[in-house]
Amino acid sequence: MKQIVVISGKGGTGKTVLTASFASLAMNKVMVDCDVDAADLHLLVRPEIKERHEFRSGVTARIDRDICQECGKCISVCRFDAISEDFRVDAVSCEGCTICSYVCPAGAVVLEENVSGEWFVSETKYGPFVHAKLGIAEENSGKLVSKVREAAKAIAEQEKLDYVIIDGPPGIGCPVIASLSGVDLALIVTEPTLSGMHDMERVEKVSKHFSIPTKVVINKYDLNPGNSEAIKQICQKADIDVIALLPFSRQVSESIVQGIPLVEFTGDGIAGDIAMLWERIK
Ligand code: SF4
Ligand code: SF4
Repeated sequence: MKQIVVISGKGGTGKTVLTASFASLAMNKVMVDCDVDAADLHLLVRPEIKERHEFRSGVTARIDRDICQECGKCISVCRFDAISEDFRVDAVSCEGCTICSYVCPAGAVVLEENVSGEWFVSETKYGPFVHAKLGIAEENSGKLVSKVREAAKAIAEQEKLDYVIIDGPPGIGCPVIASLSGVDLALIVTEPTLSGMHDMERVEKVSKHFSIPTKVVINKYDLNPGNSEAIKQICQKADIDVIALLPFSRQVSESIVQGIPLVEFTGDGIAGDIAMLWERIK
């Protein structure tokens, strides 16, 4: 089984549109949405949720008033001013650092696990799909990414699937590193803008750091041929293949509005280009 992650370094480059098209083109695979902070692949693959799991991460302190001796030690050590003068913890301010529980002489601090989100195993007309939703302002998305990847890999092994195709998160932070770890190919989707170029270089360095085979796709290359050329040169210097140049197409936004993967929505040239790209990736 091969694991392929589609990443971009920044949002809005067409990463999810491409991944949804791969869902339509690839046989025998499990799809994964690792963009857990702003998941959107489900809008195009229309999942039917079969399993729903809580994602627990971090703790929030609570003071048991029946045991508390009102010594005030916890208030003096809390760097986040989360404990009031009447020994109540403000759950929003509490960062779960747990220091109050260490200093409390009475054992009155209870650390409660947070439910930070949910993850799902779904069925789609393209096969199994593992995805997640992180709660508002919740942290630890890297841990949630690892969770959904682990579940997808288990499904692929159990059902003897050939591919795990991952829609990665934007940026270069913890969730991206969690998406990249152990994959067989990182496909960077970029666009010919200055921010696209800059963010591609950053994520390429992360990918290189982990020795992951990396290829680049330039989306909407024809909107700025000069910048597309500059991207090619950057890739040449970094010894990375640019394996596809996809043109701008108005069909892309229309396919998103209709909630249909682009390769199924249009017979335009871009659909053929994406099909050829998938053949190359295989
Ligand atoms: S866990 Fe940390 S942040 Fe939360 S109340 Fe205790 S000391 Fe303050
Ligand atoms: S340290 Fe423990 S006993 Fe002292 S005020 Fe805080 S919760 Fe109460």
